Amino acid sequence: MAKRTEKKIPNLEDKQNDEKDAVLQQIMKTKPQAAGGDSVEQKLRLLYEMQLVDSAIDDIRTLRGELPNEVKFLEDDIAGLETRIFNIHADIKRAEIEISKHKLEIENSKSMIKKYEEQQKNVRNNREFESLSKGIEFQSLEIELCEKKIREINLTIKDKRNLEETAKIQLDDRKKDLQVKQIELDKIILNTKKEEQVLENKSADYRKVIEPRLLAAYERLRRNARNGLAVVEVKRDACGGCFNKIPPQRQVDIKIGKRLIPCEYCGRILVDWSE
Ligand SMILES: [Zn+2]
Repeated sequence: MAKRTEKKIPNLEDKQNDEKDAVLQQIMKTKPQAAGGDSVEQKLRLLYEMQLVDSAIDDIRTLRGELPNEVKFLEDDIAGLETRIFNIHADIKRAEIEISKHKLEIENSKSMIKKYEEQQKNVRNNREFESLSKGIEFQSLEIELCEKKIREINLTIKDKRNLEETAKIQLDDRKKDLQVKQIELDKIILNTKKEEQVLENKSADYRKVIEPRLLAAYERLRRNARNGLAVVEVKRDACGGCFNKIPPQRQVDIKIGKRLIPCEYCGRILVDWSE
């Protein structure tokens, strides 16, 4: 089984993902507490954490959606090879029938020759003898022609058998691959289902403590965003959702976190936890 050996080059994106993973790990260990009073920063924190949980659920669902494709490709391959083997086999059968027809023709010609030779012993004149000789000659040529055809067909059959053998080996390989993949897939589905359930429970915990008005805004943003992101961090002076630049004063306001500030372009809620 080919393993994916693609090397990941560490970059800023990875570093941020690692940080997010660390935050997510922490989130999974604690129970979200309702934001006390009017602290916008706390509310933003809750929204941001819920976003991390929901994004992790999205990732699992995407992964699980793609995995069965590999199995599907293998199944298609196997079906293709089986059809190929079936067709080759039918070709060989047809060729073998051709050969037995030619063999029958040869037998016929041989008995004709025998008959003509017998008749030649009792001819009344030269003309009759010559005519029978012509018949014998004709049947001999027929036999040669049939033998030539049989040799040609046998060569074709040999080629076909080689093709059949190769296809059968490929089919065996694919079937083994499929078995391994299927087991792998079943395991991943089982594991991700568990993980997804844990994350869903956590997301539900957040939904209980977040203000309904904020939650509604969050859901609406998530529905409209292709990547399911409603709350995004400021990254390199830009919105982490649509990547449009954010004016410096707005960035300062986001950092202070005294009020909820949406991206001017995509409307996503912006947060900035950097020091
Ligand atoms: Zn934006």
